[in-house]
Amino acid sequence: MIDDRVKIIDHPLAKVILTQLRDKNTKQIGFRKGLVKLGRLIGYELIKTMKLEEFEVETPLGMKAKGFRIPDLDHIIIINVLRAATPLVEGLLKALPDARQGIVAIKRIEEKPGIENITVQKFYVKIPTINNNDIVIVADPMLATGSTISAVISEILNAGIPKRLVVVSIISTEYGINKILKTYPQVEIVTVAIDPGLNDYGYILPGLGDAGDRAFG
Ligand code: URA
Repeated sequence: MIDDRVKIIDHPLAKVILTQLRDKNTKQIGFRKGLVKLGRLIGYELIKTMKLEEFEVETPLGMKAKGFRIPDLDHIIIINVLRAATPLVEGLLKALPDARQGIVAIKRIEEKPGIENITVQKFYVKIPTINNNDIVIVADPMLATGSTISAVISEILNAGIPKRLVVVSIISTEYGINKILKTYPQVEIVTVAIDPGLNDYGYILPGLGDAGDRAFG
């Protein structure tokens, strides 16, 4: 079910930064910086999907010039899925500085092997009121089984129905993507890579390990 609701960021720099994130020798600071850089790059790619309006601007020489604006930039909400998304959000905010922010603190519980046994526990949810002209961006570096993101999306929809709901991840799996798009067909997914596997505890293979641990130690 991978269709045009899924966009893979096909930028050479994104591929290079993702390689650094995957590398087990990349340390905490380098890992966090990589996530920030990818967040900024993804933010700029997202802007390309927004409507560009033309208008006239007057220059200091008393002349008119063609100008542009992107009204959607005033209607962005970024949801930070704690904790691994924090550096990714930092990067997104560099491209989308006027965004409002929400937070969902959520943890996966992997008590016994088998991805069907993974549950999630929410600790804290704070989402601004969502209007029907808002674009909500959910940031989570790893879209693995889709359990966490599904729970986050359900909280978002309790706060209002946005114009667009975009999940931004760095590495996704087909399993997770399909799960989300089946439950929430209106969602768009933007990712840098789709990896082939998932282990019994819901870790993406080859992946990059535990994104939260690698970013925060
Ligand atoms: N969360 C992570 O941090 N890594 C994975 O591989 C899957 C989920």
